[in-house]
Amino acid sequence: MKNLTRCAIAITLAAAIIGVAVFFALGGADPVKKLMKEHPYVFEAGKTIGTERQDSYSHKDGCVYISYPETKNESTDQAVAAYLSGVKAEFDQYLTDHPQEEGAERQIPRLVFDYKTEQTDAYCALTCFYEITPLDENGTGTAAASGQQTYYLGENDEILDLDGVLGENTEKKIDLMLKNSGLTTADLQTFTIEGDQLVLRWEDAEKELSVSDVERASLIDPDQPMIALTFDDGPGKYSRQFADLLAEYNGHATFFVLGMNVPNFADSLKYVYDMGNEIGSHTMRHKNLNKLSKEGIRTELDDAAEAIYDAIGAYPTLVRTPYGNANDTVMSVIDGPMIKWSVDTEDWKSRDAQAVKAEVLNNIQDGDIVLMHEIYKSTYDGLAMAIKELADQGYQFVTVSELMQYRGVEAEKKIYRNFYPEES
Ligand code: ZN
Repeated sequence: MKNLTRCAIAITLAAAIIGVAVFFALGGADPVKKLMKEHPYVFEAGKTIGTERQDSYSHKDGCVYISYPETKNESTDQAVAAYLSGVKAEFDQYLTDHPQEEGAERQIPRLVFDYKTEQTDAYCALTCFYEITPLDENGTGTAAASGQQTYYLGENDEILDLDGVLGENTEKKIDLMLKNSGLTTADLQTFTIEGDQLVLRWEDAEKELSVSDVERASLIDPDQPMIALTFDDGPGKYSRQFADLLAEYNGHATFFVLGMNVPNFADSLKYVYDMGNEIGSHTMRHKNLNKLSKEGIRTELDDAAEAIYDAIGAYPTLVRTPYGNANDTVMSVIDGPMIKWSVDTEDWKSRDAQAVKAEVLNNIQDGDIVLMHEIYKSTYDGLAMAIKELADQGYQFVTVSELMQYRGVEAEKKIYRNFYPEES
């Protein structure tokens, strides 16, 4: 009898132990483990950087899911580790601040730290992100805290700076663009790129710039003299040559083109634009706008704008009317600044390279807008001679819009002839 009792007790105990073991193995006892078993977080798939390290565990009254990359670069790993450790500390603080309340529905805080990657020709964007979410027993809840950090990595997984991501001189260009704000890239904390939007973050400031604006900006010294060369009546067979010549001097110019010429030289115009030059409107058909009705004027402007848009994917913001003619009716129709000039090379009259060169050099001063026509070989030859001397004198070659910007002028609907520095 005794043996039988012992046996029964032993069997009962064994059953109990197995039962408890099975119970725990199924995660039944601990609501955190139960939740993790029934509603696990699924990590992002398709990561292309490094070796993925995953971990998931219960932590105090919450649960944690972590995935991070181990890359080829130690500094990158350290940066990610530092970010992760800050996030873990934030989760601990969250658990301390949000204890399970007596009698309230059970909430299980979950920390997810995961990452995703996006490869481009220039870099791989590694975005680490996290979310702290109190979950109910069905595994649903709304994030209480979240954040993300993007690292732009080069060929060896090293973290790239702005120049590394967007090209040489990007930081210098941005510093010039921000020169009035007191912000510089030297103390920049982080940046992110989404499409054409570049977001720069400092400790207590944030600034948004357009990536294409930055890429197209001239690298110029605002304290050195600058002029805006302008070329009318194109695009034409010399357009590319003018753009190449300017590029040799790290320069840009404004091309006031005729809409009617654009279809024949659409590729050249795109080339000129892609080189960082500005494309303005010289109207559609080179008519004397002073003699047109309002509708006639509007048609000339709208047709040119559409032709330009079709070729380069951007609308012109500046207009130069044929012959510079702009009476009150014309000005009432033009939607923005009308750009005349302060130096007239009369290249169309002389058709002589030496004369063009002399007209530019003899009359130039800081802030001038120089009128030329891109349809004459003599203009190209004259400019090729003049631009070297101008560069030697310290002149920088900027677009009309850049000149306006560096001289602190807000574009208005009126006629501009120059952008001289305020002192003169
Ligand atoms: Zn013209």
